[in-house]
Amino acid sequence: MDKKAQMPNVENVVIIGSGPAGYTAAIYAARANLQPLLVTGFNSGGIPGGQLMTTTFVENYPGFPDGVLGPELMDLMKAQAERWGTNLYESDVVSINTETRPFVLNTLDGTIKANSVIIATGASANRLGIINEDKFWSKGISACAICDGATPQFRDEELAVIGGGDSACEEAAYLTKYGSKVHLLVRSEKLRASAAMIDRVKANSKIKIHWNTKAVKANGNDWLEKIEIVKDQKENGSINVKGLFYAIGHTPNTKFLDNKIALDKKGYIACKSGRPETSIEGIFAAGDVVDSEWRQGVTAAGTGCMAALATERWLAEKNLSKIITREITEPEKKLNSSDFNEEEVTEHTFDPNSDWQKGSYALRKLYHESNKPLLVIFSSPSCGPCHVLKPQLKRVISELKGAVQGIEIDIDKDQEIAKQAGINGTPTVQLFKEKLLKKQWQGVKQRSEFKEAIKDIL
Ligand code: NAP
Repeated sequence: MDKKAQMPNVENVVIIGSGPAGYTAAIYAARANLQPLLVTGFNSGGIPGGQLMTTTFVENYPGFPDGVLGPELMDLMKAQAERWGTNLYESDVVSINTETRPFVLNTLDGTIKANSVIIATGASANRLGIINEDKFWSKGISACAICDGATPQFRDEELAVIGGGDSACEEAAYLTKYGSKVHLLVRSEKLRASAAMIDRVKANSKIKIHWNTKAVKANGNDWLEKIEIVKDQKENGSINVKGLFYAIGHTPNTKFLDNKIALDKKGYIACKSGRPETSIEGIFAAGDVVDSEWRQGVTAAGTGCMAALATERWLAEKNLSKIITREITEPEKKLNSSDFNEEEVTEHTFDPNSDWQKGSYALRKLYHESNKPLLVIFSSPSCGPCHVLKPQLKRVISELKGAVQGIEIDIDKDQEIAKQAGINGTPTVQLFKEKLLKKQWQGVKQRSEFKEAIKDIL
C-alpha cells in the first residue's frame, strides 16, 4: 500500500485478483513492459491467492509430476509476477466507474485510474444455510477442511463433508488424516469429481458415502454434535459428527461490478466464447469469474494469459500504453518465498532475543521469560490463509523493531498447546503481554489491526 505514492497517475492495466488467472495475466503484462498493478483482494472473494490457497496437493497442474501444494504454487506465481515488475496492491476493489476514461477503480484504500482492466476475481465457496448454521459456524461447521481439519476438536472424531465434486472428495480424503471416520453426503446418486478422485474416495475405508442425502439441521451445545439428515427425500435420521465441512460449489465474485458489465444467467461475466473481452471496451476478464464450466487452475492461468495479450494489443491499438523501460534486462531471480520448512526451535537453537521462532519450546520459554508482547500464530501445514498471514505478521514485527516477538505453533504437531489455547481453526493469532491474553484474531487480517493492538499495550 505504501507503493501508492510512487504510482503513476494512470496505470496501463490494473488486474483485479490474485489467483492463477490474475498472476498469469500479470506475468504476461509485466513482460510486455506494461508494469501492471495487481490488486490482490483481501476481504471480499476469499483470501488473496484464490481457491488454490485452500487446497492441499494440486496434482494436475502441468510441470509438477509429484504434485505441488496449492499455496506453494501461488507463491511461485506471485514471485514470478513480481520478478518481472508487477506492483502488488493489497486491497479490495469495491466498484469500477466504467463510464469515465481512464477507468476509475474505487478500493477500500483509495482510487486508482487505469487505461485498461483485467477482472480475475474468481469465485467464492458457497454456504448451505442449514438450521443453526450461524450458531455452529467455526464451532464445528467450516468452509475449509484444509485450513481447519487439524484443529484438536476434530481429532479422532466422526466428521462430515457435503458435496460430490472434486473439492468434496479431496476434503473427505484429507480429513481421514484426522477424523476417525468421514461421512460424505451426496445429494444425488453420483459423484461429479474426476475419476482419479472418485477412485481415491471409494478406496478409502474411513469414508462412508451417503447417497441421496441432504443435511437440514445442526445440533449440539457449545460445539456441533450431530446433523439431521434427510435421505431419499423422505427418511429422516441423524449422524453424530463433531465437524461439518461444505464443498458445494462456488459463486462468481461479480457483485462489486454492480451490473455495469454484462453477466450471464448464472452471474458469471459474459464474454464471447473463448475471448477475454467483456461488454465494456478496455475491460477484460479471465479465470473462474468468467468460467462456469472448466474451472481449473490451468484453464484460469490460460485465460489470464489471453486477457493480458488482448489487453496489450488493445492498449497499443488505442495508443494508450506507456511502455516502462526496464532498468535491468534480466531481473534478479526470486527465491521460492515458501517458508513451509522453517525449523522448530529446540533447547539448543532457542534465542531469547529472536524476533520470530517456531514451536512449543520457544513459546514456553518466551511466555515465562520475555517481558515483550508475544504474537503467537497457530497454523497448520497446508493452511493457505496461514501462508498469507505469516509474512504480514513478520512485517509487523520488523516494523516495530523488535518491540514484540513472534512465535509460530503448528497445531498439527502441538495438539496439546492448541487445545489449551482453545484453538478451533487456523490461522488464529493471540497477543500476550505478561502471560495475559490481550487479543485474539481468527483468519487473515490487515497489518494495521495487529499493529494498533500491539501499540496499545506497549
Ligand atoms: P463443483 O464441481 O461445482 O461441485 C459442487 C458439488 O456440490 C456438486 O456435487 C453438487 O451436487 C454439490 N452441491 C451443490 N449445491 C448443493 C447443495 N445445496 N446441497 C448439497 N450438495 C450441493 O465444485 P467443486 O468441487 O468445488 O469444484 C469446482 C471446480 O474446481 C471443478 O471444476 C473442479 O474440477 C475443480 N477442482 C479440482 C480439484 C483437483 O483437480 N484437484 C480440486 C478441487 C476442485 P450436484 O453434483 O448434484 O450438482
